[in-house]
Amino acid sequence: MKALVKSRPEPGLWLEDVQAPEPGINDVLIRVLLTGICGTDLHIHDWDAWAQATIPVPLVIGHEFVGEIVEVGSNVNDFHPGEIVSGEGHVVCGRCRNCLAGRRHLCACTMGVGVNRAGAFAEYIVLPMSNIWKHNGRVNLETAAIFDPFGNAVHTALSFPVLGEDVLITGAGPIGIMAAGVVRHAGARHVVITDINPKRLALAEKMGVTLAVNSTEIRLAEVQKKLGMQEGFDVGLEMSGHASAFREMLGNMSHGAKIAMLGIPAGEMAIEWKQVIFNMLTVKGIYGREMYETWYKMTVMLESGLDIKPVITHRYSCRDYKKGIAAMHSGDSGKVILDWRN
Ligand code: NAD
Ligand code: ZN
Repeated sequence: MKALVKSRPEPGLWLEDVQAPEPGINDVLIRVLLTGICGTDLHIHDWDAWAQATIPVPLVIGHEFVGEIVEVGSNVNDFHPGEIVSGEGHVVCGRCRNCLAGRRHLCACTMGVGVNRAGAFAEYIVLPMSNIWKHNGRVNLETAAIFDPFGNAVHTALSFPVLGEDVLITGAGPIGIMAAGVVRHAGARHVVITDINPKRLALAEKMGVTLAVNSTEIRLAEVQKKLGMQEGFDVGLEMSGHASAFREMLGNMSHGAKIAMLGIPAGEMAIEWKQVIFNMLTVKGIYGREMYETWYKMTVMLESGLDIKPVITHRYSCRDYKKGIAAMHSGDSGKVILDWRN
């Protein structure tokens, strides 16, 4: 089968012919239809320090996908050939304290699809049946292909109640933009999103934000005044991974506000802790998705009118993956989709 492989310990990815995976008795074999490119895939492409320390070479990479089941192992009863599915990108151990307690997203020994084990940028992928999410026929294929990052957005956005609250999102990358749609759908009053890239702010405006703010031009204190706000934002979603964005957020939260942190800072990050302490802020780290509550919430929000398709800006054949990587590198793209059917 053809697959995008990190086959050498140097920058780049290579479209190669590799052995198709074979399902074990508890596994599901899936023909991949569409995949999404994630920032993680860029790190692996670029071969940065994290990738060098993490990725076993050679490895088929990629974890955002939708596909069709072609075969199931002999122990698998709940899934059948022909069903349209995505895969949860964390394969958990099932035996640690959190797994046993049903908190699988907190597994102590989690393995990343396309990071620690063979991924989805290929014609076929094998996953344990416990990692399969079956789509109902009402979700369109492109949306299904990006359930993984959509799940990051939903997990973060629904960490704290947002009904009637003023929500600040820092970072209008694909995940920040989807999170804006989610908190709008979930009944927030003002949804303010910040970025430093005008193209991304323009994309965010398509998702129904109250204001998309260029943080190089306008301070959040002014934004609050403009919106008639007095005491700061009630909920913050940090989705940039940049210290300056987080500091600006901390200075504009209401007393008792809640902050969910998804963005991954490049290194250590100093903040004015007195703002957290005296204002009694709650800061919660977010990783991945909840299995499978987040997946359920994604599905029902789409069924009740949430549309995340505007975040998809580029579509290529898998053969043109270099164009997809270039679109991601430009910093101006939303989600980039690769089609494995041709
Ligand atoms: P992205 O890099 O495409 O988006 C980040 C955005 O932040 C960019 O548009 C950038 O212009 C913007 N930004 C940079 N400096 C800023 C500033 N000072 N103020 C406001 N915005 C600023 O990333 P993404 O794919 O949308 O993901 C969002 C973040 O979440 C990334 O940091 C990513 O690494 C992280 N992530 C975490 C998890 C997890 O499980 N915790 C999963 C996926 C992604
Ligand atoms: Zn575990």
